[in-house]
Amino acid sequence: MNSKPFTRSKTTHAFSTLPPLSMDGKSVVEDFRRYFSRTLGRSELNEAAYHVYTSFAMAWRDRIVERWKKTQASYDAEDSKRTYYLSLEFLMGRALSNAMLNLEETSSTTDALQKLGLFLEEITEQEHDAGLGNGGLGRLAACFLDSCATLQLPVMGYGLRYEYGMFRQKIENGYQMEEPDHWLRIGNPWEIERQEFAVRVKFGGHTEPYTDDQGNTRVRWVHSHDVLAVPYDMPIPGYRNGTVNTLRLWKSTATDEFDLDEFNAGSYAEAVGEKNDAEHITMVLYPNDASENGKELRLRQQYLLASASLQDILRHWVAQHGNDFSQFAEKNCFQLNDTHPTCSVPELMRLLIDEHGLNWDDAWAITSRTVAYTNHTLLPEALERWSVSMFGRLLPRLLDIVYEINARFLAEVSLRWPGDSDRQQRMSIIEEGPEKQVRMAYLAVVASMSVNGVAELHSRLLQQHLFHDFYELWPNKFNNKTNGVTPRRWMASSNPELSKLITSVIGSDWITDMPQLRKLTPYADDAKFRAQWRAVKQANKARLAALVQKDCGVTFDVDAIFDIQVKRIHEYKRQLLNVLHVIHLYDRLKRGERDGITPRCVLIGGKAAPGYQMAKRIIKLVNSVASVVNDDPSTSELLKLAFLPDYRVSAMEIICPGADLSEQISTAGKEASGTGNMKFMMNGAMTIGTLDGANIEILEEVGSENFFLFGLNAEEVEAIRGHYNPDAIIEQDDDLARVMHLLECGHFNLFEPGIFDPIIQSIRNPHDPWLTAADFRSYIDAQHSAASAYLDHDHWTRMSILNTAASGKFSSDRTIADYNREIWHLPNMAQ
Ligand SMILES: *Cc1c(COP(=O)(O)O)cnc(C)c1O
Repeated sequence: MNSKPFTRSKTTHAFSTLPPLSMDGKSVVEDFRRYFSRTLGRSELNEAAYHVYTSFAMAWRDRIVERWKKTQASYDAEDSKRTYYLSLEFLMGRALSNAMLNLEETSSTTDALQKLGLFLEEITEQEHDAGLGNGGLGRLAACFLDSCATLQLPVMGYGLRYEYGMFRQKIENGYQMEEPDHWLRIGNPWEIERQEFAVRVKFGGHTEPYTDDQGNTRVRWVHSHDVLAVPYDMPIPGYRNGTVNTLRLWKSTATDEFDLDEFNAGSYAEAVGEKNDAEHITMVLYPNDASENGKELRLRQQYLLASASLQDILRHWVAQHGNDFSQFAEKNCFQLNDTHPTCSVPELMRLLIDEHGLNWDDAWAITSRTVAYTNHTLLPEALERWSVSMFGRLLPRLLDIVYEINARFLAEVSLRWPGDSDRQQRMSIIEEGPEKQVRMAYLAVVASMSVNGVAELHSRLLQQHLFHDFYELWPNKFNNKTNGVTPRRWMASSNPELSKLITSVIGSDWITDMPQLRKLTPYADDAKFRAQWRAVKQANKARLAALVQKDCGVTFDVDAIFDIQVKRIHEYKRQLLNVLHVIHLYDRLKRGERDGITPRCVLIGGKAAPGYQMAKRIIKLVNSVASVVNDDPSTSELLKLAFLPDYRVSAMEIICPGADLSEQISTAGKEASGTGNMKFMMNGAMTIGTLDGANIEILEEVGSENFFLFGLNAEEVEAIRGHYNPDAIIEQDDDLARVMHLLECGHFNLFEPGIFDPIIQSIRNPHDPWLTAADFRSYIDAQHSAASAYLDHDHWTRMSILNTAASGKFSSDRTIADYNREIWHLPNMAQ
């Protein structure tokens, strides 16, 4: 680690004067050939497809690294304020095509490649998705980094370098099978290992008081089992602006020390073997979306991220400012992506007090002015709690600090509400009971200067319910930041033909200024433009149909309406309601009702958490219904259903440009925001949706005449509880009764009797939290309106254009500008 420096080197910038690399396609391809044949030592293109990709990526990486070093040097030189985005998940997807888009790749690259008989698309297809996240929360972090770089804000992402990302999903006999995603096995050209910045992270042991040189009583954390965290940096290029920010991911590894006792006892191999444990911490991403799992290894991951990142940030601070922290709060901000990185709160206190000698009050003044927390869900099963006993065993010094934070906080509560012990108990960071728990969300709220939800409705519900007591105490902490997605990946890169068409009429500025898409509005009335728009959509549908054919073996007809629901499989997202609609259409067709039925291709995709039995059963139901519907010659002309395996970022890049109808049908009040809804809207899909999350704001932007709204609203959902009677609803609705009958008579599982009983019971359960039966009728009616509307192609295309035109609000550039204006206050750092 501590390599010997070069004693005679005169300058640390000996390489900064290298001539800049040419962006010409010919020179990129020349570099590519050199990497392929010399650096990687390959000769046959066809035997080494992945190495073709790697060497091509390396040629582009060189061009990024130049801009990267320059950007980072300018941040240091200006000593500007910085924000650190801390997240256990970054769902980055592929990097190559994004890098080429952002660095303004020219068609000369494509030409130069073609002279070698290579097609760009085949090369980019070789790249394995960086799947270091579960779903929306992880993808949000990725979109945010893109927008920060594009807006030229000094923001750095910190996360974990999981050896195994999100599992690969296979479908066998209709059931989900999980396969490990060893994405790093053949190498990752986009990361640079930074051994020189490795840090030690403590676990276990205990704390003890001692008296320092000045006679002060202090605490130290001793007899800990330490691991080493090694950072790997990935470049985050902005859109054609010379800025390249950093995503720093930590890998855990063993320290160089050795258990001497074991060694002396002759167990050399065993002592080395123990080092393995350290490597396990960052081995695998936990595949749970919107649910916590309470496993000790997960807490280790969370603390590793918090401690390594903060040590890294403080090292950088001390290198620039010495041990003077008076300006620290003015110059640093930590944005917590959900409660997962909340160990950062006590860890920052620990580092400032134990390692840098600050007193409690000064350390707290810094912590409580620099930390900001984003909540992502109201679902109780997702709220993180750690048992006090486990937390204390693993992180003894942090538990001391959490107790001290809580004691001081509860004193503040009792000043505001004297004698209100109920409230003290309700608000305590420590939940009492047979097994005491640390409530991570409360810890995050108490320590943060800002607490935000991710859509208007969600932020309001946080204030009214989950954090109501805290809202009364500190109303000004609470705010909303409606999510967004990056138009570079989700339009410019994934839908080049639509982008070209848009640019041909309104210019290209919309790519970094999405509200300009409003200029498309008048073109909705232009017949020629509509024809071009529809031609692009049909071509994108053909591309998607090819994917469905390859991965599902189901034939989609591009003239049918493409009705799509892709997202994690979860009961609150109600894939089940979608399936009930498909069964309803099948039932109508089988009964000979064909008039006015619009040909429809329904695509459902998404992963279920491996331990979430109900979600896995819903996948099986989709596949069972699909095989009945698709194999029936009397229905398959008009109705197709397919389950797309292994839904991931690179699949979504093909899916959203080819969608006509976007299914956003969660029970109102349960989906914090949704971001899939935004990707579909930008690409000209119509939404069928409930008044939930950002759907409400989508509806507001596009107008109700361009949105298929249905279902109970959040207030109605709460009001119905206690007197919900699904059996009565089923009895009174012939369509629903017939659908239930088909399910209950085993029509879709003739050879596997009973497998769907738990699903049937959940629909008929008066305590069904997702109220599937309650929204059935209005969902079917909204689907009927959508189907009729689709028959008028011209009208549909009009609505499609208007959806794209109204989607400007949902650029993550707007979201990040909001974070920066109201929370971060970073300067623009034009390069
Ligand atoms: C956008 C995205 C999500 C989030 O989708 P929601 O519909 O908002 O749940 C999840 N996974 C992937 C791969 C995505 O691209």
